[in-house]
Amino acid sequence: MIYDNYCSVRDQVDQAALKAGRDPKDVKLIAVSKTKPLSMIEELYQHGVRAFGENHVQELEEKQLAAPQKDIEWHFIGHLQRNKVKKLLSLNVSLIHSVDSLALAKTIEKEAAKQGRSVSILVELNIGKEESKMGADPDTAVDLVKAISQECPHLLVKGLMCVAPAMDDEEKVRPYFAKMRQLKEEIGALGLDRVDMKELSMGMSGDYHAAIAEGATMVRVGTAIFGARDYSKK
Ligand SMILES: *Cc1c(COP(=O)(O)O)cnc(C)c1O
Repeated sequence: MIYDNYCSVRDQVDQAALKAGRDPKDVKLIAVSKTKPLSMIEELYQHGVRAFGENHVQELEEKQLAAPQKDIEWHFIGHLQRNKVKKLLSLNVSLIHSVDSLALAKTIEKEAAKQGRSVSILVELNIGKEESKMGADPDTAVDLVKAISQECPHLLVKGLMCVAPAMDDEEKVRPYFAKMRQLKEEIGALGLDRVDMKELSMGMSGDYHAAIAEGATMVRVGTAIFGARDYSKK
């Protein structure tokens, strides 16, 4: 049943890509499994799904310890506290989507250097400049990526991420996604060291069609695949 939902979302992702004149293969669907049990992840895994998103370090750790499938591609999409960086880097994480300050980048840098490896990240922007949202001010995006490039030799910046403002009409969100694309292109053109602006992680259950129309390469979908989240049990 979860897999049926996944297929229906994947199909809509493909349609949105084609409509935008893009190759559906260029849009990765990340199944956001936060708060959902491992059994649901396993159902999708059995059908070949590998990319999952989690937003809490502890929950990610618990799921990884319990999951026998070592080839799951875990995406960390939540707000990352600096005191959780060490723990996160001890886990299997393919991409950290939510780096939103130089201080956080430097903390990751320090731990990555200690481990003698590179870490792939996205820079999260608060594209709607909303008080309730995480992410760096988009006006500072260029300087932030420049500083990360200069000061964090173990970080590989792969692109940008955002959670767009919630709107009653998906079309109204498009200008925010367009701004993301513009910033991605602007920063990409600078040719900074270890900065390869390939990815745009944007689009969730309510707005992934619009995000794909504006160039999203990764959409993070939870509710439309797994159903509504129940936080009362936590
Ligand atoms: C929870 C979450 C999602 C998925 O949201 P849905 O609306 O359930 O699809 C995507 N991105 C981030 C950063 C999230 O925290």
